[in-house]
Amino acid sequence: MLAKSSVLESKKAIRDFFSEEHYMFRDSLRKFLEKEAIPYFDQWEEERLIPRSFWLKLGENGFICPWVSEEFGGMNADFGFAAILSEELSRVGAGLSGIGTHSNIIVPYIDSFGTEEQKRKYLPKCVSGEIITAVAMTEPGAGSDLANIQTTAVKDGDHYVINGQKTFITNGIHSDLIVVACKTDPNATPAHRGISLILVESNTPGFSKGRKLKKVGMHSQDTAELIFEDVRVPVQNLLGEEGKGFYYLMQKLQQERLVASINSLVAAEDMLQLTLQYVKEREAFGKPIGKFQNTQFKIAEMATEIQIGRTFVDDLIRKHMDSKEIVTEVSMAKWWITDMAKRVSFECVQLHGGYGYMEEYKIARRYRDIPVTSIFAGSNEIMKVIIAKQFGL
Ligand SMILES: Cc1cc2nc3c(=O)[nH]c(=O)nc-3n(C[C@H](O)[C@H](O)[C@H](O)COP(=O)(O)OP(=O)(O)OC[C@H]3O[C@@H](n4cnc5c(N)ncnc54)[C@H](O)[C@@H]3O)c2cc1C
Repeated sequence: MLAKSSVLESKKAIRDFFSEEHYMFRDSLRKFLEKEAIPYFDQWEEERLIPRSFWLKLGENGFICPWVSEEFGGMNADFGFAAILSEELSRVGAGLSGIGTHSNIIVPYIDSFGTEEQKRKYLPKCVSGEIITAVAMTEPGAGSDLANIQTTAVKDGDHYVINGQKTFITNGIHSDLIVVACKTDPNATPAHRGISLILVESNTPGFSKGRKLKKVGMHSQDTAELIFEDVRVPVQNLLGEEGKGFYYLMQKLQQERLVASINSLVAAEDMLQLTLQYVKEREAFGKPIGKFQNTQFKIAEMATEIQIGRTFVDDLIRKHMDSKEIVTEVSMAKWWITDMAKRVSFECVQLHGGYGYMEEYKIARRYRDIPVTSIFAGSNEIMKVIIAKQFGL
């Protein structure tokens, strides 16, 4: 059983942007995860992959992409459902985050920028879990500096021919459909105007999956290299307009970074709960370690920071549900929440003593899963660059 996240639970009454339908969705998703994910999660971490069968079960139960319109198999749900999906998957473990990436981050590109034909072809299977998606921006030589990507898509008649390599791609091994950031105009100035997004199906000749990357943490999350060697795709696979890829990515990064903040905050809340439980039970010098003032102060400090984070993130969820532009605030949340969750992980392991460093304790997994959150979805330094720009710097 999961430790109850009292912060989330106690917020039920005042998280008024969630309706009864949202809570019903959360309850059924949580029950589903308790039965279908938690008993197997250790095994998936060992195997370093979530089985496709689990994706299909999620799809069958309506938990993937609930926001997709009914016409394409979804439930026409709002962002609140997406936020709940991220929260509940994160409660189980960061290894499940690839599912949220598919549901809340990648499929929205197809929904927002796809043609009717693309939507009809792909969305229903994205909802059912039959199609797993990836978004491939990062390359061995370019991550933060997205405008500098080298993967090219050259027009040849009614096809694009794609060449290049991508790395660190979430859902890479399972991916059936990849949104690939390519240079359709390598000479464009500024360079980002030459970037387009192109859909590549994984069975296209010339496309191959490289190494399944061994990560420090998030073991069950599928992360891989992708290789494109003269991959020919019809021009109809262009997503949106040529040269607009960078703008589309920027447009969608608000939601991606909000989801990253949600995930890290839930991890911090879980770490605090695990630690609270531990310090009440573990004894030293004849009393629970929770009776030492140092422990109490650490817990009080962490609970305060988490509460600040919860207030901030909930405000952003509400604003995002209202379609407000919150790029700067989301950038603030992304760097601050992920840094805070990293601090929480250090303190929680310290309070667990030697047991905190043992794999059988969930806190150890949280500790190695959390550091990457300040790197991906735009590194925390890039978040500060974005914030500083808003001040005219
Ligand atoms: C587990 C995992 C999953 C990922 N999933 C995906 C995915 O699905 N799709 C995808 O496309 N990518 C994915 N990524 C890649 C991720 O987005 C990049 O790692 C990230 O953008 C940073 O790029 P980089 O690794 O090339 O680091 P670099 O860009 O080389 O940065 C290295 C360091 O320099 C700093 N730095 C860079 N530029 C500046 C600057 N202007 N000012 C100050 N500091 C700067 C960075 O903050 C960082 O600390 C994933 C990465 C990981 C680890």
